Amino acid sequence: MESASQQGTRFCVSCGRAISWDSNVCPYCGHDYRVQMMAPQPQISEGMKIVFYVLSFLIWIAGLIIGLIYYTKGDPESKHVGKMSLIFMVLGIVFWGVVGVVIAIVLMASV
Ligand SMILES: [Zn+2]
Repeated sequence: MESASQQGTRFCVSCGRAISWDSNVCPYCGHDYRVQMMAPQPQISEGMKIVFYVLSFLIWIAGLIIGLIYYTKGDPESKHVGKMSLIFMVLGIVFWGVVGVVIAIVLMASV
């Protein structure tokens, strides 16, 4: 195949010279291709994160499920969202636990 040799090279977007396909930096002009390739792409929107965190806070089982699903995913962002969901779940348990105790004290005091 003639294209096999062509696949090994590409033209630099900056200076237009043929460079090796797998080279990260253009040897002629120094254009760095790693920046473009490694640009982080947000997979989870900010709105979704807020929904996850609020759900985790209100319903601890939802937080546990969301947390475990995302924490076991490979990419760092999912892992972060999973960890935050678990943190909000714990905060929710503590918060609703305190609310429950306060309600119990109020009810007992009013009897
Ligand atoms: Zn170049």
